[in-house]
Amino acid sequence: MISISALHKYFGSNHVLNNINLEIQDGEVVVIIGPSGSGKSTLLRCINYLETFTQGSIRIHGEEVGPQSQDGKMTRLDEKRLNALRQGLGMVFQGFNLFPHKSVLDNIMMAPIDLQHLSRTEAKTRAMKLLQQVDLQDKAEAMPASLSGGQKQRIAIARALAMEPQVMLFDEPTSALDPEMVGEVLKVMEKLAKTGMTMIVVTHEMNFARHIADKVCFMEHGQIIDSGAPEDIFSRSNDSRVGKFVNKLE
Ligand code: ADP
Ligand code: MG
Repeated sequence: MISISALHKYFGSNHVLNNINLEIQDGEVVVIIGPSGSGKSTLLRCINYLETFTQGSIRIHGEEVGPQSQDGKMTRLDEKRLNALRQGLGMVFQGFNLFPHKSVLDNIMMAPIDLQHLSRTEAKTRAMKLLQQVDLQDKAEAMPASLSGGQKQRIAIARALAMEPQVMLFDEPTSALDPEMVGEVLKVMEKLAKTGMTMIVVTHEMNFARHIADKVCFMEHGQIIDSGAPEDIFSRSNDSRVGKFVNKLE
């Protein structure tokens, strides 16, 4: 479904992504772990076309989304194509980014109405189903400010799902939460994984990685320096780099 090869990204002279190669199959859950500054967010942002990259290729369903055309000249996808690609990718960030002056329901209904031209009735039916999926049906009319951090993040997930994306990208979705709210968000993500959603998740939640991931990638200095099934990654010795990283967190 997603195929990344020989991907490089520079910010000025900072080599932020250094030869990333990654294949993600339909329905797979890939967890990316690694220290702060290793390039995890930048990688997600390249996949989502929020960032251009310097060299290499990212294909989604065989379609090149990269900034380079075949003759090597920098190109930009036209706006329409770009929007279509982005709509196939749902993204959930660390912060909640809900529209504060809109109700929960309107937050979820907005993109399907504006971008997919659903009627209000259709959008509402879809939104109510999603609220049920994240177990917050009773918050449809609530305003974001009245919700807890965990509830906001579950709404943010529902809102991303409202566009019926083929892939969901999560960038440290629980890092800004009070510890007692982490579990409810991970539970929603676990449920989503079990529906067969293709997911790329950047997280420091090692238990989630251990139990839900099909594949774990360990990034350092812009490179994936280790990857494999969770049972392999988490049984690396204490003096391997990934072993050291995991032990520090647990
Ligand atoms: P991570 O998510 O793993 O913490 P990031 O992808 O955020 O890492 O950052 C990787 C590197 O890229 C860091 O050195 C960071 O300072 C740099 N970086 C990230 N975003 C920008 C930007 N917009 N402009 C310049 N440098 C950036
Ligand atoms: Mg980050």
